[in-house]
Amino acid sequence: MALRIIIGMVLTVIAAAIAGQRLWWLYRLGRTGQPAPERIAALREHPGRGAETQVTEVIGQRKLLQWSVPGIAHALTFWGFIILLLTIIEAYGDLFSKTFAIPLIGTWAWVGFIEDLFAVGVLVGIITFAIIRLRTDPKREGRKSRFSGSHTGAAWLVLLGIFLVIATLLIYRGAQINTGDFPYPKGAFASQIVGHWLHPLGLSANKALETTFILLQLAVILGFGIFVTYSKHLHIAVAPINVLFSRRPNGLGPLQPMRSNGKVLDFEEADPDEDVFGIGKIEDLSWKGMLDLATCTECGRCQSQCPAWATGKPLSPKMIILELRDHAFAKAPYLLAGSQEKRDALPDEVKAEAERPIVGDESAHGVIHPDELWSCTNCGACVEECPVDIEHIDHIAGMRRYQVLVESEFPVEAATMLKNLENKGDPWGMGEAKRTDWMAELDFEVPVVDGKISDDVEYLFWVGCAGALEDRAKKTTKAIAQLLHTAGVNFAVLGPAETCTGDPARRMGNEFVYSMLGQQNVETLNEAGARKIVASCPHCFNTIANEYPQLGGNYEVIHHTQLLAQLVADGRLTPISPIEEKITYHDPCFLGRHNRVFTAPREIMEQVPGVQAQEMHRCKERGFCCGAGGARMWMEERIGKRINTERIDEALGTDPDTISTGCPFCLVMLGDAVSAKKGSGEAKESLEVVDVAQLLARSVQRPAVVGAPSSGDAAATTQQDAASPIGDAAPGSGTSADHEDHT
Ligand code: SF4
Ligand code: SF4
Repeated sequence: MALRIIIGMVLTVIAAAIAGQRLWWLYRLGRTGQPAPERIAALREHPGRGAETQVTEVIGQRKLLQWSVPGIAHALTFWGFIILLLTIIEAYGDLFSKTFAIPLIGTWAWVGFIEDLFAVGVLVGIITFAIIRLRTDPKREGRKSRFSGSHTGAAWLVLLGIFLVIATLLIYRGAQINTGDFPYPKGAFASQIVGHWLHPLGLSANKALETTFILLQLAVILGFGIFVTYSKHLHIAVAPINVLFSRRPNGLGPLQPMRSNGKVLDFEEADPDEDVFGIGKIEDLSWKGMLDLATCTECGRCQSQCPAWATGKPLSPKMIILELRDHAFAKAPYLLAGSQEKRDALPDEVKAEAERPIVGDESAHGVIHPDELWSCTNCGACVEECPVDIEHIDHIAGMRRYQVLVESEFPVEAATMLKNLENKGDPWGMGEAKRTDWMAELDFEVPVVDGKISDDVEYLFWVGCAGALEDRAKKTTKAIAQLLHTAGVNFAVLGPAETCTGDPARRMGNEFVYSMLGQQNVETLNEAGARKIVASCPHCFNTIANEYPQLGGNYEVIHHTQLLAQLVADGRLTPISPIEEKITYHDPCFLGRHNRVFTAPREIMEQVPGVQAQEMHRCKERGFCCGAGGARMWMEERIGKRINTERIDEALGTDPDTISTGCPFCLVMLGDAVSAKKGSGEAKESLEVVDVAQLLARSVQRPAVVGAPSSGDAAATTQQDAASPIGDAAPGSGTSADHEDHT
């Protein structure tokens, strides 16, 4: 007995010392990051929300369970280990007393039953994990495996460790049943089965097994505890903290303002030599960013949903996190050295690691390759999928900001767009005078705000640069205006006073140009007294609704599909002309995933008679990007398959007559891909890409030719016959800002 106590306690002290030292080291490393007072303030302001996420995401495993099989396997393992804390207490108690039982509940049969039930559940969980890992072995599956790039050896070691925890548990409990030391008279069914197997060995062998396996159980748990602190399984300890301090409702929607030393950066006073401008070195991450790195489980869910990765580009959101983490750990001795003298004394490889630029190609020995950084479309699929609330887009935006603002390093083709934004207020450099040209084809007047918005105007229609200047998007703009007019909604536009929201500049990393444009727009909107804004571009919608509050602009903003769906529901718009077509809807990332608008566009399509709506496999929260977000619209796509082509290939799988969407950028990107497919004979000539508003406008318009037989042609004919102001829907027409190469 004494030996049992001594060995058990010595093991515990050694393990606690090793794990404690590592955790202290990790804590100090995290503290080298920038302050993030806004995270603490948000939690203080909404403590209930913090508690709720712990219950739903950590205990309830909400995000993990979105993937049913691995989710259930993880939940069984996680819940199992919570329940098995009881057995750890029992194992320690058994060191001191052979007949130990947890006070009060320690002999209740149902407690023994639950313990065994979850022990078996954990076994089922790890067998499932093992099968998943074998079926998606990256050695065989390559990039298709979500574990490609993960540390698979460590993962197998963890599965073995968990198996040993359960195996040693059941063996010592089975032996205890035979020695008469087991606290549960019945209920512990799995232990009883093992006890039955061990019974023939006799009493003294069972006594020896009991002592040996109690000690082995503790040794395995303690060894596992140490391993956790040195591996990706650190997430067991830090994931709840990361979830607690993550952005709410999630890391999507707005980008955060640039901060230096915890304070929002003021460009008028900022000093690039003193202040932090984005992420130029690993310690420019905030402590929350550092926590993200420590929390990654390497599950690869983010990677499996990333459009850049899916189309053969070097970007994987998982690898971004792992590369930053590996670099942070390798640079840690330098960061924690405390004095220049100690830094100088560090090994050369540590000093070389400290010198690495955070972004740089092979010759610069960068941590992140520029092709990774600039491949991101900001689609948000990674953030959506991550079960531990890692905020990949914030990291990518931080690195882009440094590259653009400090290094002036970014894809050259985007320079023209940035220059146009600065000089002309739109990405194409067409200028304010062109912003009202689209109105010329309407048979009614669109009021343009001059000074204050008049009281009878219900909505300010934010047209957006694409909506005002890009030929395909202008058709959407005209359709929306026509529909609002038909429904009797009083609306007005800013016309020449509108400038780009700044979204492409911000997503590129040029926070300076963004804040210049944003402040100008907020000033204009506030002076005009804007309250309710309807935006047709999801990027404008996201920026005005979610980012302009950071600049003092607070408005009620809705997307045109939301307003149109409401007008249909209220009976103010009645779709009457049938559109007998198979239509598949493409979710724009900044409307869907970033802002959770999934139902309004679908509701509109449901109300149009004749429409057969059919979903692509990747839709709604799992929608697949068109490739234009994150300012990718203005960059060449030189690596891998084009993202818009991948999306259209998926759409063509549903054999659609029309592809609908709710975003001018998606319209252009998907339209380009369809044109290419038509050119190669892979898509039918009649296939169109249209905005949902155009579909609704066609149906609301009374047909000139009653009983026209079919779809695309019929709709186009009808509009043209009716001389509709939105009747220019023929696909493939030339554009004034044509983006075949998206530049
Ligand atoms: S935002 Fe989209 S493109 Fe960017 S890393 Fe995440 S999943 Fe990939
Ligand atoms: S970032 Fe999140 S989703 Fe991606 S591998 Fe890490 S834990 Fe999994």
